[in-house]
Amino acid sequence: AAASALSRAHEPAYTLDGRRVLVEANVSSLADALAAAAAGAEGSGVVRTEILFAARRQAPTAEEQAEVYVALGKTIGGPLSIRTWDAGGDKPVAFFTPSREPNPALGERGIRTMRKARDLFAEQLRGIAMAARETPIRVMFPMVTRPEEVSWARGVLDEALAGLGPVELPVGIMVEVPAAAIRAADFAGLVDFVSIGTNDLAQYTLASDRTNAAVSRLSSLDDPAVWDLIELTCRGLPGKPIAVCGSIANEPDAVARLVSLGVSELSVRPPMVAQIKQAVRQVSE
Ligand code: PEP
Ligand code: MG
Repeated sequence: AAASALSRAHEPAYTLDGRRVLVEANVSSLADALAAAAAGAEGSGVVRTEILFAARRQAPTAEEQAEVYVALGKTIGGPLSIRTWDAGGDKPVAFFTPSREPNPALGERGIRTMRKARDLFAEQLRGIAMAARETPIRVMFPMVTRPEEVSWARGVLDEALAGLGPVELPVGIMVEVPAAAIRAADFAGLVDFVSIGTNDLAQYTLASDRTNAAVSRLSSLDDPAVWDLIELTCRGLPGKPIAVCGSIANEPDAVARLVSLGVSELSVRPPMVAQIKQAVRQVSE
């Protein structure tokens, strides 16, 4: 079975009922993009930009970012979902100083930090938009809690797009805060797609620090509350592409359930691409 999965790694994956499920790879470096391409990934469901540029002492310019994003897209040969800086919490960013907080996971992280770093955010959006002229890209915002955060981010994006000419750049959010999953329908008019981040969604739903091995349950395969939130997200956004890029997407045993709930894109670690495609091929709805 493993050999047959590998031999079909570069073919698209359809369920037994003929539904296409995109299997992509999570990417944090050019090496990941090379591994993703070799593994048969159809794109990247999350480019973790805060890790991609983690070595920089100063924020990369829009031009520098665009060059890297285009290189990733061309290397993978498929669409990229580029996530804007997910600064704070478990992901410190060298060129951005977060506020000192006693409880950073519940503090200013992800899109929340960008409210105080508008120029840094606008510059990134400009870089993403420049790259989107040369390779297929979607942009997504991390740690979204309320619709007004998306309205604000879209306003900054519109400014960044002004002057660049027409650019095809679908906009989405990470659904990784329980409030966003519960109220998914409130985001319907603001997004073209969503991507469920089960690592943080499990952390916040189960009140379990993802960095604390004693309590973390990252895969959340056996947590009905997390499954309920995935279901609520899918039900709240009928007709929108729903991706999963948290680690639950790497679990072959979770694939049938995710797909039956309406998930149409799975983004996984590069070595898991072949196996997850094979799991999709066994799904009968
Ligand atoms: C997640 O939270 O599930 C996710 C994919 O993003 P990250 O692990 O980078 O926070
Ligand atoms: Mg996350």
